[in-house]
Amino acid sequence: MPEQSRSVTFKNVSKRYAGVPAVTDVTLEIAGGSFVALVGASGSGKSTLLKMVNRLIEPSEGEVRIDGEPVHDEPAYLLRRRIGYVFQNIGLFPHMTVGENVAIGLKLAGERDTAARVTELLQLVELPEEMAGRMPDALSGGQRQRVGVARALAVGPKLMLMDEAFGALDPVTRDGLGKAIRALHDKMGLTTILVTHDMAEALLLADRVLVMEDGRIVGDATPRELLAGKGGAAADALVAVPREQAHRLAELEK
Ligand code: ADP
Ligand code: MG
Repeated sequence: MPEQSRSVTFKNVSKRYAGVPAVTDVTLEIAGGSFVALVGASGSGKSTLLKMVNRLIEPSEGEVRIDGEPVHDEPAYLLRRRIGYVFQNIGLFPHMTVGENVAIGLKLAGERDTAARVTELLQLVELPEEMAGRMPDALSGGQRQRVGVARALAVGPKLMLMDEAFGALDPVTRDGLGKAIRALHDKMGLTTILVTHDMAEALLLADRVLVMEDGRIVGDATPRELLAGKGGAAADALVAVPREQAHRLAELEK
């Protein structure tokens, strides 16, 4: 039976750091196969919420489930093997080649002959095969992030968590990588949760946009609903920025 994409459920999830709330009482159902963007200002709790899915952070209260199974039912290292995780300035091992970096997850899972799979993964993220032999410091920022995505996809996860994964990239590279990620999501039938502070990116890539403010989800709507002003006040304020920019550009073209 082919593996199905994974649903993610948050049930009354809160996280406090030394008593200070970072995420407060989040209850949320993310359907398997959906591409969800999590948007909000810096410090609103996006990364904290995301990291409770792969247990880099444990909730103070509440429970996260994947396909109905509480994530704490299984050792964290095993859980993480089933979840892709890509973050800003992803750490590639500098003393290993690109190919070795991509193959790390496969090696950990006990696979020995990884060359063909590495080639396939590099193709998936649109990098030339020859790049497998290069060292990470001989790559551009965008190429490094692509290698990070390939590494995350290596063990065939059905759930991808991306935290400001394109944050440090120039706009053109960032746009290209965003489109590539969406295409991979569709092709591989993933569930993707993408954290970004960029509402335009969220609107263009996601099926559903969640807006966080002070540790709470204050908006939950489709891009179409958001653009129609149906996402609530916090979402409206974030949508106003790219909308106004698009407007000004259109004016310049007149
Ligand atoms: P975001 O990803 O939206 O920028 P974070 O989840 O990183 O937000 O942070 C939410 C809040 O929790 C912020 O106020 C931040 O300062 C605080 N915080 C995050 N990580 C820690 C930590 N390890 N220790 C103490 N406070 C933290
Ligand atoms: Mg963050």
